[in-house]
Amino acid sequence: MSREPEVISAGEKTEKEGRVIKTRIMKAVGKMPDDREVMELSADIIKNGGLVAIPTETVYGLAGNALDPKASGKIYKAKGRPSDNPLIVHIADIKDLKVLSPDIPENAYKLAEKFWPGPLTMILNKSEIVPKATTGGLDTVAVRMPSNEIAREFIRACGGFIAAPSANTSGRPSCTTALHVKEDLDGRIELIIDGGDVGIGLESTIIDLTGAVPCLLRPGYISLEELISVVKNVDVDPVIAGKESRMPPKAPGMKYRHYAPRGELTIISGEREKVISYINEKTARAKKDGIKAAVLACSENRACYDSALVYDAGSIYNEEEIAHNLFSVLRRFDEEGVQLIYSEEFNTPNIGMAIMNRLIKAAGNKIIKV
Ligand code: AMP
Ligand code: MG
Repeated sequence: MSREPEVISAGEKTEKEGRVIKTRIMKAVGKMPDDREVMELSADIIKNGGLVAIPTETVYGLAGNALDPKASGKIYKAKGRPSDNPLIVHIADIKDLKVLSPDIPENAYKLAEKFWPGPLTMILNKSEIVPKATTGGLDTVAVRMPSNEIAREFIRACGGFIAAPSANTSGRPSCTTALHVKEDLDGRIELIIDGGDVGIGLESTIIDLTGAVPCLLRPGYISLEELISVVKNVDVDPVIAGKESRMPPKAPGMKYRHYAPRGELTIISGEREKVISYINEKTARAKKDGIKAAVLACSENRACYDSALVYDAGSIYNEEEIAHNLFSVLRRFDEEGVQLIYSEEFNTPNIGMAIMNRLIKAAGNKIIKV
């Protein structure tokens, strides 16, 4: 069964070299033969060095051929991403892992067995075939096998090796819907595959397996405890552990301000009552001064705030809901033109480390203890 491609968007922008890119949006459902047409078009674009945004279970990714340095160059350009911030290579079949790395440690297979396909990225030594343009100049490569069916179908259709960083412009919150991708990349890429709202909403957990002891470089949906249950001993990069460190983070991307709304975001930390009264004081003052201020809170506390603009991230007892909503709420502050944002902390039991890692980066480390 073949369908007319659904072209919702036809954004046009003139690139420096004068080329015009039309960005199409096509829906996919994650099964053949319904997706045949979108997969054939995708394969065509990717094999010709172009870019396609795809849904994954974490966030939307901006995909290009991982083995083509020119395609990687285009990804950096479309995102405005610093060229020392390496891309994650996505595969659809475990047998393809050995193409990317010459010396895969036993731990990689153990972790893959438990968490792949899924939201875990592993850092391995890279093989010759992986261009340094994809790894930001490093001799290591980040690899993930997503569980999203559309993503895996896409990777297979496009030859098996797809570089795909998050599909936002650099610095902005990651995209959890096709519409977010359109906001950021319309006119810069050939196609957006709309697979609906993503499931998890936070980027993958990253673990480095190139050292003597595995090291957590970025917290994500798969928690430190889950990793330890498989590989016993896991170090945590001091930068994400919140420790002062003169060393740069091992995941180069973690040194950049990220996920940030345009308004100034501050996290308020402390006992519930004190946090609420501090934020109420601040938003009242902002109102007097004619500044548009908003609050990011859990649903349980929502009614405690006087501000007209209170955004609910979800129930504090439902951390999956908070993770899922975080980036789209950060984007909504921009839509409303909010200038000042005060956020509660979301120290939930399992993915709280990942949620707070993103929120603290979005706040540029601004935390006030009350
Ligand atoms: P994104 O694709 O936007 O989720 O960002 C990918 C993250 O993976 C960035 O923080 C990168 O710095 C990190 N990363 C990718 N490749 C490597 C690598 N070879 N070594 C360490 N970190 C990496
Ligand atoms: Mg990103």
